[in-house]
Amino acid sequence: MMIGFWFGKGKPEMNHFLSLLPKNFNTFYEDGFEVITNGEKLVVKGLLQCDCSDLPASTSSKSFVGHNGYNGCQICEEPG
Ligand SMILES: [Zn+2]
Repeated sequence: MMIGFWFGKGKPEMNHFLSLLPKNFNTFYEDGFEVITNGEKLVVKGLLQCDCSDLPASTSSKSFVGHNGYNGCQICEEPG
């Protein structure tokens, strides 16, 4: 789980958050990491299934126009 908070006067540069993720997620998916539990060594692997964020963060991370923009819908391509 990755949690990020941003507070300030402007919007954050989303690449600060996202630039390291693809490499880390690929490593997590392909190689995993070792966990020792009850004396047993396990390799845990995973993948990103969803992104849960508020609407401004969601639009910024996906490089979408805001919800009040001309092509603001993230689901369809209907303008206006
Ligand atoms: Zn729509």
